[in-house]
Amino acid sequence: MRIFGTEEPVVMEVNGRPLRCVVCRHDTFYKRSSILHGAAASFFNLESASPSCVCLVCSACGHIHWFLPT
Ligand SMILES: [Zn+2]
Repeated sequence: MRIFGTEEPVVMEVNGRPLRCVVCRHDTFYKRSSILHGAAASFFNLESASPSCVCLVCSACGHIHWFLPT
């Protein structure tokens, strides 16, 4: 699945372990940073910080894995 034009998906690690998609077990992702707004920021209780998160989009099925910045 080509989601972001010509960008090549990459292998990602989380805490030193290779990330696999929770849906299809694929192992390459497109990386995006996003700003949380409104309800999403409230959900994560981050309204007072400048809330942002890292999105890793599975290159096979498109499932989005969200991570808070560390
Ligand atoms: Zn997937």
